[in-house]
Amino acid sequence: MTIRTRFAPSPTGLLHIGGARTALFNFLFSRHHGGEYLLRIEDTDRARSTEAATQVILDGLAWLGLSPDAPPVYQSTRAARHAEIAHALLAAGQAYRCWCTPAELAAMREEAAAAGRPPRYDGRWRDRDPSEAPAGVAPAIRLRAPREGETVVADLVQGEVRVANAELDDMIILRGDGSPTYLHAVVVDDHDMEITHVIRGDDHLTNTFRQVQIYQAMGWEPPRFAHIPLIHGADGAKLSKRHGAVSVLEFREQGFLPEAVCNYLLRLGWGHGDSEIIDREAAIALFDLGGVGRAASRMDYAKLTHLNGVYLRAADDERLTRDVLERLAGRGDLALGSTAAARIRALMPGLKERAKTLVDLADAAAFLAHPIPLPMQPKAAALLTPEARLMLRDLVPALGATDFSTAALDAALRDFATATGRKLGEVAQPLRAALTGSTTSPGIDATLAALGREEALARIAALA
Ligand code: GLU
Repeated sequence: MTIRTRFAPSPTGLLHIGGARTALFNFLFSRHHGGEYLLRIEDTDRARSTEAATQVILDGLAWLGLSPDAPPVYQSTRAARHAEIAHALLAAGQAYRCWCTPAELAAMREEAAAAGRPPRYDGRWRDRDPSEAPAGVAPAIRLRAPREGETVVADLVQGEVRVANAELDDMIILRGDGSPTYLHAVVVDDHDMEITHVIRGDDHLTNTFRQVQIYQAMGWEPPRFAHIPLIHGADGAKLSKRHGAVSVLEFREQGFLPEAVCNYLLRLGWGHGDSEIIDREAAIALFDLGGVGRAASRMDYAKLTHLNGVYLRAADDERLTRDVLERLAGRGDLALGSTAAARIRALMPGLKERAKTLVDLADAAAFLAHPIPLPMQPKAAALLTPEARLMLRDLVPALGATDFSTAALDAALRDFATATGRKLGEVAQPLRAALTGSTTSPGIDATLAALGREEALARIAALA
């Protein structure tokens, strides 16, 4: 049997980080088993589903490296098939037409509310003769759900969950206007897509009983279900904007690497001993649903940021340079030509050691692309005393005499410090201020070398 999973988001305008984790688990499970991972856009709510909203999901998945193995299935295109199955159930006596008016249904709900019962359909058309149908009402089709016994789901995360069938009413599968209900559409689509494992948020657990009843009525084998706990904020409440970023593209904007986000999401609610750093390849090799916990997980932004720093230091310098240039592109005060690109690339090994996010990295690299005069942070300006400026003037010939390699620059700075009776820091700090406009940067020798002879000496000359 080919293992086939799907991610089935509703296009609401963002890809929530919880949805991203659901996609990741579906992806990893299918890859682990050499199966297929599919995407279904659940766009039956036409009012809310726009092309732009779908694009946000596709972009988010692509960024995370979780694009599906086949073009997405759009649920809205399958309405005729959903109706066909509803009619097949009707023909088989597994469903029936219900001519209840909206007013009757409202009265039923009120009655239930008054008696403190959950609202449910009382089955009044289950056995009634269609010849009694009122004129002018378009009938809905309802499932003739079993009334005795239990519906049992052997969930791969939650364990065995069951409900007495007497608790479930006869749900509508096709509305009076011929449109399918959501629960029905999902079952028909999962069946037709030959989904073997439905991995989704545990907010869908109660839907599962009703969905299983549709499978049973059709004589279809249901897939295996795995309901994974939701992601909460640090305070235990459902994760929302007030906790921080929630949409995948927001994490991208804030400078997180997709592989760090995936690693973090994997570890959030799935355990493999104490290992924290699990890359994509290892995740595919190790992932199993047995490792998914049942308790809600809590989003910890500090932990994600830490992990991001780890991945940043391991990331390829060319790639980081490209990203930094893109992030700096909007800043009008910079000159972002090939010279700046080469400087940023040259200093990247030192820059990435200090950064936790790509935003930090871009901020730290900006000085390399800034034309003279550099903006000065107050702390840097304070270092450039008249005495320091005189020292910098004396330093220029010593630096100029080198080949401007990191090693030669380091030696020249040390010799200059010794010869003038200064500590290395007393030379390096004003020099750093002159070169970068700040008090922090990678090693001063590497910073000089990345700027290159002409630019470095010009920056000093502008201040000395
Ligand atoms: N469309 C549903 C959602 O976005 C998911 C349905 C499912 O996975 O079965 O929550």
